[in-house]
Order: sequence, then structure tokens, then C-alpha cells
Amino acid sequence: MPRDLGRVQLVGAGPGAADLLTVRALRAIEGAEALLYDALVCDETIAFAPAKCVRIQTGKRSGKTSMSQDAINRLMLRLARRGLNVVRLKGGDPSIFGRSGEEREFLERHGVSVEVVPGVTAASAAAAQFGMTLTHRGMARRVMFATARVEDGVLADDGWIAGADAETTLAVYMGREAAACVSRALIAHGRSPATPAIAVENAGRNDATIIEGTLQTIGARLEDARRAGPVVILIGEVAGLRASNVEALLRTAGAVG
Ligand code: SAH
Repeated sequence: MPRDLGRVQLVGAGPGAADLLTVRALRAIEGAEALLYDALVCDETIAFAPAKCVRIQTGKRSGKTSMSQDAINRLMLRLARRGLNVVRLKGGDPSIFGRSGEEREFLERHGVSVEVVPGVTAASAAAAQFGMTLTHRGMARRVMFATARVEDGVLADDGWIAGADAETTLAVYMGREAAACVSRALIAHGRSPATPAIAVENAGRNDATIIEGTLQTIGARLEDARRAGPVVILIGEVAGLRASNVEALLRTAGAVG
């Protein structure tokens, strides 16, 4: 394989709040000569790049269309071969629904070395912000990061039995339209319809909002809410153990305040 034909850093930008960047991510952005960023990366984060840095938006934002994956790959390659420090900035963690595997494979095949900088994924940001954990001793031993593909109103993939176990927490990405279908599939595989579920929009940011429900209700509640920002859905018993709920229970029992 040819060597030293440039370098690209695939950097996790976290959930869209600049102060949830890692220090390593910040240093990468500050050293960037070419910055390619996704739609979910916030302006404040992009502003950390030096004034001379070439900034290229690759994702759909304010009416602009997104670049194809192939075009992004070729652009990164061209910039890296010019000897520029290329930073590819992705929302959340690059290893979760971030196509970083495809990008790494393409770049390395063309002799470009790749470094990945991890980031805070949406599910972690949502859990932290709304007082819950993704795992819990004796209650949630597994976490499943999932996304769904719906074709003609029907789920196009069939792996949902993996999320049917009561001790699994599911974090569903890109699931706004698919939520009701996913719930039905999980219930059909034996997951209790009463399982707590929340949908968090704009997790990690100041304008984050939460919709609460159960596996049975979350799809319809999400549809009614007509949210425009990115939404992550967390399903599992842990979603019923959120700090505010625990506090309310304790208060009823006279243990708080
Ligand atoms: N790599 C990203 C996920 C990219 S897929 C990560 O690790 O978070 C894009 C999906 O991620 C969105 O459709 C949404 O489901 C979720 N997402 C990303 N940022 C989010 C945020 N701030 N709040 C809620 N969901 C978010």
C-alpha cells in the first residue's frame, strides 16, 4: 500500500454543543487546514477552525443539498493529497452511524492515513441530560444502538428480536418516522408494551426537549409533536428510572424535601 499520501482525522463533534467536544477534537479542529462538516455540527464548533481553514459543508442544512458519500470521499482524498491537514467533523461519535468505516476504508486504500477521534454520542448526551443511565445494575445489562429502515410503512430489517429482552436498553437513531414500526416489532417479539421510552430532541444542547411515553405510546407521541431537530429514542426500564422520577417517588414516600 502506498504510504504518506496525506492524513485525515475523522473527528466526533459530539451532539451539537461546543462544550461537549473532547479536548482532542478541539485541537484537531484548531489545527485544520480543510474542514468538512456534517449538518449536525454546530456553528460554534466550526468557529474553532482557523480563519484560513477551508470549510466545506457536506450535509443538508438550510436548504442546501448534501454531497454524496462518493463525492465526500474523493474530496477528502484530493485535499489530503495536497498535503493539507484534513479534518472530517461528524456529529456525535464517528463510530455510531457515522459512515466512518467506509471513509477510513476508502482513504486507507488510497494510501491516506486516518485517525479517528471519538465523540459523545447522542444517546449518552440524552441520558445525561435527562437524569438516566443507559445501563443499570440488575436492570439493564445491554445497550443496543439501532437504526431502522422503513419501506412502504414496513420495517425493512428484521433484527429487532435482539432488542426484545427486558434487560436491553435500546437507543434508536434516525428513528423519528420509524418509531411506531419499531415499537410494534419489539412488542411482537415479546417486549412489554409498558416499557418506558423517551424521545429526546437536540440532546446535549440548551434547547433540548423530551417526550415521555412507553413502547406502546412513544411513536404516536413523537408524530404528534412534529419535532424538527435530531431525535434519539431511548427504550428500556432505565428510562423509567430517571432522576426526576426517582425524586418524585422518594418525595411521595417522604424521603425528599
Ligand atoms: N454519529 C452520531 C449519529 C449520527 S446519525 C452520534 O453518535 O450521535 C444521526 C442521528 O443521530 C439523528 O437522526 C438522531 O437520531 C441522532 N442524533 C444526533 N445528534 C443528536 C442530538 N443532538 N439529539 C438527539 N439525537 C441526535
